[in-house]
Parts: sequence; structure tokens; C-alpha cells
Amino acid sequence: MHLERNLLGTAALLGAGAALGYVVARGRAERPGGSRPEQCHRVVILGAGFAGLEVAKGLGGRRGVSVTVLDRRNHHLFQPLLYQVATAALSPGDIASPIRAVLAGRKNCLVLLEEVTGIDLAAHQVVTQARRIPYDTLVVATGSETGFFGHDDWARNAGGLKSLDDALGLRRRILLAFERAERSGDAAERARCLTFVLVGGGPTGVEMAGAIAELARHTLAADFRRIDPRRARILLIEAAPRILGHFPAGLADRAAQDLRRMGVEIRTGAEVTAIEPGIVHLRDERLPAETIIWTAGVQATPVAAWLGVQPGHGGGVPVGADLTLPGHPEVFVIGDAALTPGPHGGTLPWLAAVARQQGIHVARAIRARLRGARALPRFHYRDYGTLATIGRNKAIADLGWAHVSGFPAWLLWAVTHIFFLIGFRSRTVVATEWLFAYLTSRRGVRLITGRRPVPGRRPAGGASQAAIAADAPR
Ligand SMILES: Cc1cc2nc3c(=O)[nH]c(=O)nc-3n(C[C@H](O)[C@H](O)[C@H](O)COP(=O)(O)OP(=O)(O)OC[C@H]3O[C@@H](n4cnc5c(N)ncnc54)[C@H](O)[C@@H]3O)c2cc1C
Repeated sequence: MHLERNLLGTAALLGAGAALGYVVARGRAERPGGSRPEQCHRVVILGAGFAGLEVAKGLGGRRGVSVTVLDRRNHHLFQPLLYQVATAALSPGDIASPIRAVLAGRKNCLVLLEEVTGIDLAAHQVVTQARRIPYDTLVVATGSETGFFGHDDWARNAGGLKSLDDALGLRRRILLAFERAERSGDAAERARCLTFVLVGGGPTGVEMAGAIAELARHTLAADFRRIDPRRARILLIEAAPRILGHFPAGLADRAAQDLRRMGVEIRTGAEVTAIEPGIVHLRDERLPAETIIWTAGVQATPVAAWLGVQPGHGGGVPVGADLTLPGHPEVFVIGDAALTPGPHGGTLPWLAAVARQQGIHVARAIRARLRGARALPRFHYRDYGTLATIGRNKAIADLGWAHVSGFPAWLLWAVTHIFFLIGFRSRTVVATEWLFAYLTSRRGVRLITGRRPVPGRRPAGGASQAAIAADAPR
């Protein structure tokens, strides 16, 4: 115990010493009239998600700072609405904006399409597949990726939802499942095609389950002749005793009730033991399903390995209250890549709201440093509440001071999401699409894209190809 305390004390002293040394050095170098007045302070931002983009925006147009934003994708993605692309309600362009376009007006911001592969802390350089990029201040905001709790082989048989490619892949799987059922003459095969299993009863699983139920029961109800899409079986599997574990029990119960009314089967306390092509195995049950969707977890991008530090929960990098890497005041780690101390112990959740506020905070902190401030401010997260939607007129909202459900929560959810979408065009298009869907129950983007869906060819598992080919419409 004492040893731990001593070590902690020593680490804190070293960290504080390093921070002071860094700030003094930077202050000398960067303050107007310092020893390097002609040189810009080089800020390199890894990732243009919710966190990284706010840092770039906050430093954009500032004199004395050059900003380089590296991202392996050319677009910023509004992940909270990914499930709507996967269920044919929105198009990819409605929820993504080119990073270059977002930062076009900020002349000191350089955007590079690069995959980061490492960080050389000693040399103050970022390592990408193509080059090494030097920095004075580094902001690591590469977020998280789908995590299969060590069962990486499950990824082949269950689709995750983290990128536009994932969402389009799921849209394809979901729509093709109905097409295959229509082609098949075998009752068991049709039932398998019309079974959708979602693993993970968090907000994404709940939203996806509700959206697939609406797609099957309303949008597609009249579109097929040989099958009745309303008979689709949608199962939501959750290992914990209840779904939406981070919400108050009353709100989670209400969401479960709404889902059941929409025809979703909820299995709680059900642990997935294996996922094979077309089959989900629970401890005591085997669920054949054409479409398996994984919404059970994410893990941080390999930032801990890049920085050579011990990863914490979910692979995140533990940071100080000022969001810097302990012992490295020139390195900020924010958003889903970080484990940030929370106000009541534990760490802050991985949410867009946390990532955005951290980005704004870090931009302010860097600006303050460049003005000569010595101490970095602590980050305080303002929790305005958490929302999850279940379907049309159905949502839950935990606002801290009030619990809201039903239509008011749904309206709040819709307004909030439109407000936080980037770009006037996206906001207008999404609002119009939603109004159209609300009035007509139609989903406008029911397109099967990608590889041509050849009759009889199936990517994985399930019934024989011959059975399907034989049932193909003449
Ligand atoms: C389906 C889904 C629904 C969600 N719903 C909600 C919600 O309703 N409310 C909410 O608050 N939060 C929600 N979240 C969580 C929220 O999206 C994340 O917390 C948030 O995106 C984290 O922001 P970030 O900036 O840390 O990472 P991200 O937004 O993920 O951005 C990371 C960026 O880094 C880039 N990148 C990653 N690795 C590399 C690399 N090696 N090299 C270069 N670039 C790289 C990525 O391309 C990406 O642009 C949801 C997440 C998902 C997946």
C-alpha cells in the first residue's frame, strides 16, 4: 500500500515537473517576443471525429499555430445516426461530411488522408504508413472500433456498426434477407432468412432492433408477394439482467415494453458463446439467423500500443484530469481513445457529447498555453442527459433532473440529432427525410448496393445454394 502511495507520489511529482518544464519551455518559445517568434507552434491532430474536429475548429484561423489533421477516412461521420443508414432511412451523405470541406475556411489547417501506425514520443513525431510528421503538441483522437471481446473470428459472421461501410454492408444484408426469403419455397429456410439477431442490448442494439421492426412491419409490409415481412423475427440478445444498463431501470423497462409491442423478442441474461455462419449459439440454445448484427461493444483504437502505455478498460489510455498523458504534457488523448477520470470515480462514458466537449476544452487549453498560461485547466464534463430512440414516437431521455419517454423524448431526440449534425445541407435533408418517413412510414433508401446479388449465391452458411436457386422466381 505504502509502496503504491510512494510510487504514485513520485509519479505525480515527475508529471508535475515535466508539465512545468514543458510549459516554461513552450512559453519561452511561443510567446510573442520569445526565442522562436517566427515559427508556428505545430499541432498535429490524429482523427477528425467528434473530438479531433472540435480541436481543429478551435485552433483554426489562430495566428502562430499550424494545425495538421490526419485521418484514415476523408469524412467526419455522425455515428449516432449510422443505424438509420443501415436500415435504409438515410443515405451515407446525410450523416457524413468531407473533413476538407468542414475545415476549408481555416487556412492554417492542413488535412492529410493518412493511416496512423505509431507515435514516437521521444522524437515528437507521428508515424504513418507513408511518413513521419513532427509535432509540438499532439492530440490523439482516433476513437474506438468494434470490439468482439477477444473473439475476432466472430467478426466474419456478425456485422458491426462503426463506419459507413459497416452500415451499407448491414443494409445490404438486411434487404437481401427479405429478397432471399421471397425467392425460397422452403418454409424453414424462409423463417431463417427472416430471423434477425442483434447481439447487445445497449442503445445501438435497441435502436437497430426498433428500426428493423419498423422496416419489416410497416415499410416493407406491402412490397412482397410470397412472404409476409411482418412475420420477421427480431431477437435482441443481452448478457446482462436488463437492456440499456446505463439508463435508469424505469426508462429501460419502458424501452423494453415499447420494443416488445413492436414485436421484438428480448432475451436478457443470455450469453452468446459462439457465432458461426448463420447461427448464434447461446449457452443452452442455437439460433439460426440469416442476419446477425453485433452491437455489444467497442474497444479503443490501438493508441495505448502507439504510446507504449498500459491500456485500461476497453483498451483506452488513462489520462489526467487535464486530458494529457501522464508525464507528457505535450500529448492530449481525448474521446473514445481515452479513459478520463469521472466526477464520482470511474471514467467518463464514451459518448459523442464527451468527445466534443473534450475537443473544445483542449483547443482552449492549447490557446491558453500559447498565451503563456502555465497550468492546464481540469476538464469538467457537462452532462445534459442521455437519449435513446426505439422507433416512431418512442424514445427515452434521462435528463438527470427528469426522466422522459414517449413522444416528448422522441421529439427531443430528433431535434438534438438534427442540431448536432454538421452542415446546413445535412440538417435540412435529414429533417425532410424524417418528416417524409413520419408522414408516410416509408424509407426512401432501400437500395441493395455493392457486389451484384446473384441468385443462389450466398456469402455464408445457412441452407444449400441449390435450394435457393430452385426457388428463384422464373
Ligand atoms: C452506432 C453508434 C451509435 C452511437 N450513438 C451515440 C449517441 O446516440 N450518442 C452519443 O453521445 N454517442 C453515440 N455514439 C458514440 C460516439 O459516436 C463516440 O463516442 C464518438 O464518435 C467518439 O468520438 P471520437 O472523436 O473519440 O472518435 P470518432 O468519432 O470515432 O473519430 C475517430 C476518427 O479517427 C479516425 N481514425 C481512427 N483510427 C485512425 C488511424 N489509425 N489513422 C488515422 N485516422 C484514424 C477515424 O477515421 C475517425 O474519423 C455512438 C457510436 C456508434 C458506433
